[in-house]
Order: sequence, then C-alpha cells, then structure tokens
Amino acid sequence: MFENIQVAPADPILGLNDAYRNETNPNKINLGVGVYKDELGATPILKCVKQAEEHLVASEKTKSYLSIEGTEAYRKAVQELLFGADHDVITKQRAHTAQSPGGTGALRIAAEFIKKHMPGATVWVSNPTWANHQAIFQSVGLEVGSYAYYDAASKSLDFEAMLASLSQVPAGDVVLFHGCCHNPTGIDPTTEQWAQLAKLCSKQGFLPLFDFAYQGFGAGLEEDAAGLRVFLEQAQEMLIANSFSKNFGLYNERVGAITVICETAEHADAAFSQVKRCIRANYSNPPSHGAAVVTEVLTNPQLRSLWEMELQAMRARIQEMRSLFVSTLRAKGVEQDFSFISQQNGMFSFSGLNPDQVAQLRTEFGIYIVGSGRISVAGMTKDNMEPLCEAIAKVLAN
Ligand code: PLP
Repeated sequence: MFENIQVAPADPILGLNDAYRNETNPNKINLGVGVYKDELGATPILKCVKQAEEHLVASEKTKSYLSIEGTEAYRKAVQELLFGADHDVITKQRAHTAQSPGGTGALRIAAEFIKKHMPGATVWVSNPTWANHQAIFQSVGLEVGSYAYYDAASKSLDFEAMLASLSQVPAGDVVLFHGCCHNPTGIDPTTEQWAQLAKLCSKQGFLPLFDFAYQGFGAGLEEDAAGLRVFLEQAQEMLIANSFSKNFGLYNERVGAITVICETAEHADAAFSQVKRCIRANYSNPPSHGAAVVTEVLTNPQLRSLWEMELQAMRARIQEMRSLFVSTLRAKGVEQDFSFISQQNGMFSFSGLNPDQVAQLRTEFGIYIVGSGRISVAGMTKDNMEPLCEAIAKVLAN
C-alpha cells in the first residue's frame, strides 16, 4: 500500500532546525526558526510562567476534559487582550473565542470553517508570507492566492501595489493580514494604512482574517493591536488566529485561540457553534495546562505586571540586537546599507541575502538562515555578533 509514497521535502523552517541540530561546526549559529533567545542563547521559561505553574500544580484538582472551546476565564482574558475590555465586540457579544493548539491550530480551524461555510472562497496571503500559511489552507482544499506587499528594491511596504492587488479581490473571498510584526519582512502597515485597508475591505466585501502571533513584540501590547482595532471600526465580520507561543515563550505548550466576530450576537452564536463542530471533529477539545498558565498570568495583577516587564525586556533585547547588527556590519566594512533592519518590527528581518549567500553562510560558516533571507534577530547575541557579521561581510564581498 505504501510502497509508492514519495519522500516529502523538509519543512523550510523546522527542517532547517533539524539540520542545525546535526551541524558539527562548533561555532554554528541558528537564525532560522522564530524562537526568542536571551543573551546567553537560551530560550528561557518566563518567571511569570514558572510562578503561575507552581500555583497551578498546587491548586489543580482534576484532569477531566475541558469543553470544546476551552475555559470561560481563558476566552475572556484573550478577548480583553485582543480588543481591550470595553470594546464593542465584547459588550455586544459579537465575538466568540475558542482555545486552540497554538496559532497554527487556530489557523487550521479557521481554514476548515472557511472551507465549510464559504465554499469557493480563495484565501489571499501577502507576498511573501509565513512559510506555513499556504500549506494550512491548501490542506483543507482551499485555493490560495497572493497579494503584493513587499518592495525588494526599497526594502519597504509597497502600499500602492498592496491596495491595487486587494482591489481585485472579490466579495466573499478571505484576506489574511499579519496583525503586527509581519513574518518574514518585519514591516507593518501604519495606523493610517490599516484604516485605508479596512475601508477597502468594506468596499470590496472580503473577509479579513488576522494572524496575530506576535502581540507585544513590536511596539507594545496595545500598540500592536492597533491595526486590528482600527480595522474593526469598519469591518463587521472578522476571524482572528492568535498565539501565545512567542509572547509567553510557551512554544511547546501549544496555546492560541480562534476568534470569530459577526455583525450581531445572534450571528456570532451560530458561527461559533460551527467553529466548535470543526474543533470537535479535529482534536475534540484543547489541552489544559498552557492556557491555564496564560489565564493565571493575565488575570493575576502581580503576574501580569511581571509578564509585561519580561515581554518588554525581550522586545528591548531584540531592538538592541538590530542596532548592533547594523553597526557591526558597518564596522566589518560592509558598504551596503543595512540600516533598514533597525526600522523593522518583531523577531525577523528580511535581510536581502540571496539563496546562494544563504547557502554559503551555512556550508562555510555553520550559520543557518531561512532560504528567503529571513533572519531571526532574536537568535543574535553580543557573543555571536562578531563572527556573524564577519561571515556576512565575507559572503557579500564574493
Ligand atoms: N503565524 C505566524 C505569522 C507565525 O510566525 C507563527 C509561528 O512562527 C504562527 C502563526 C504559529 O504559531 P504557533 O507556534 O503558536 O503555532
């Protein structure tokens, strides 16, 4: 039965991680996968998470199933983080949220929901986008198209081209936006541009799907939600897939949420009942631990302020690495202007290195970067900066 099955290609990001693990170069550097590292190159467990876990272990009384959508406390905490506590979509009960296994799980549920209830819809993703987006939507049989986003020459958002592309999207299709810290470019629309996009969305009649995996990694928790909230001033319907992998460092606990927003509470109840059906037939109900940690941290004032401080520290360290990267490259004699890297948001930088240069960095220097030239700035440290920039300078000089 299985003898004719072909070997699947390695995943462009997680496959790189596997290759890195087997790399024998003692000076190897991993700037591939989007995982935060501290200045020692470790991915620590946040203090707020540890404290919440201690409390949870001491107080939990059962390992019984959660409901399909997860706990009420978690769902409320997620909505307040996304929209702010007094937002219209909360007070009018127009939004319903279900816990999901990470942001990927949320996107998968969104994909199944779209496939079932918006048959024939194409999902439009930015060019470029996170490497997994296409696969997630295609795996449920949805068509995926792409809209213009990045201008490689100016290394910035090509907003005119983006508007022109999205003006071609017909009513009833779905457009995926990165809520903040666009992956892989690190370039986001401004608040004014978000407002323009929302206006276009209402005019065209497409459904916005926000992938919100990096809240707090750009300018701050509230600031990073601005695009989504500005959009909601005009859009009556929306899907949001958010993740706590990065901002809580809970990568392996798989915590996220899928939120559906409708024009009325009645519509939201109906749509959410269908979201729950998708979940039931997929993984039945979510795991408890990671979401319990997030709930505890978000709702306990002392843990909440510790989390915000720790998140701020992660953000500041990445920003510091951006500046140091730019200045170290300059000090190594690189003439090309890399200052755009200090302007980008979040964990990633779209470096402009081409596939040959990326391959050379890997084979000659043990430096791992995604083939598109995306660099995880969060993997840079004061210790690896010199060898990293020296290697890039050599590769660029070839
Ligand atoms: N969306 C984007 C843009 C991402 O970069 C990622 C993770 O890298 C995800 C979603 C998925 O996050 P999770 O690990 O929570 O599934």
